Amino acid sequence: SKAAVKVTVTGAAGQIGYALLFRIASGQLLGPDTPVRLSLLEIPPALKAAEGTAMELDDCAFPLLSGIDITDDPKRAFDGVNVALLVGARPRTKGMERGDLLEANGGIFKPQGEAINAGAADDVRVLVVGNPANTNALIAQSHAPDVPAERFTAMTRLDHNRALSQLAAKLDVSVTDIAKMTIWGNHSATQYPDLYHAEVGGQTAAAAVNDDEWLKDTFIPTVAKRGAAIIEARGASSAASAANAAIDHVHDWVNGTDWTSMAVVSDGSYGVPEGLISSFPVRCADGEWEIIQGLEIDDFSRERIDASVQELSEERDAVRGLGLI
Ligand code: NDP
Repeated sequence: SKAAVKVTVTGAAGQIGYALLFRIASGQLLGPDTPVRLSLLEIPPALKAAEGTAMELDDCAFPLLSGIDITDDPKRAFDGVNVALLVGARPRTKGMERGDLLEANGGIFKPQGEAINAGAADDVRVLVVGNPANTNALIAQSHAPDVPAERFTAMTRLDHNRALSQLAAKLDVSVTDIAKMTIWGNHSATQYPDLYHAEVGGQTAAAAVNDDEWLKDTFIPTVAKRGAAIIEARGASSAASAANAAIDHVHDWVNGTDWTSMAVVSDGSYGVPEGLISSFPVRCADGEWEIIQGLEIDDFSRERIDASVQELSEERDAVRGLGLI
């Protein structure tokens, strides 16, 4: 039988972790033929809760789950890791300055990058979910010089899925009728969900919608601010949908897709400065992603992409200034 793949989840005792681990263990991340070994990384006060989640995982008797390890030591958690899902992060609390937020996350993602560098399997693939995800991914990546930079990615798939769902509702079509959706830039309020390259029934989504005001004043802000709307409605932040997007991201990276959105290390494509971890349209094959090239970018899209990328540059400058990269 196939060897088990080691999947490490940080922040395993959190909300997203709780929605994520059961799906990984049931085979939805890597497919029904791939056994997984779970490694749960938590901070000491959350270890007991992680143990409780592990007990529930045991109680599911998942045929594909070959073992669970729980630790607060990144070295141990990432030793031999094949897929790393970095979910735990320091959330912004009231009154917290951006510099403090970045610094607190540097304290988390620097040692994790070092531990991945020291011990990960040759085929390691990393997805950063914890916010600010793009810049946390940049911090981890910059401390893992022996791992190819393209193995570090950040999640914009939830934004992508939200955009699909909003557009499908507007046009009264199925999400499967929509192709070539793209999220550009930072996983933040500046992100740009692009309807000028998305396609529905043989025309661009922008043409199908044929309502500029809706596109600019409703669609884009609705997608970008959906997280806050969920908190408002649910009294807690989105967790199951974030976990679902993490599953989609890794599944499509490993198994291939013609078109999706991933935040990946820029090679300078579309004017995004080299080295920034920014969201692009990508295709995946043989476990590798590639930025889809040759799209024409109109003035409106240019402006939106540039604004989000500018924010990423500023975040990079800030973590550089703090000596975190
Ligand atoms: P969640 O599980 O709800 O969220 C975890 C992270 O995912 C947050 O940074 C959150 O950002 C981010 N996130 C990204 N996209 C989304 C989205 N669409 N919706 C919601 N969140 C999103 O947080 P919890 O507080 O429940 O759990 C975090 C866990 O991480 C805790 O158990 C804590 O102990 C642990 N932790 C572990 C660390 C480690 O392993 N070294 C380090 C730090 C924390 P945002 O805050 O912006 O919503």
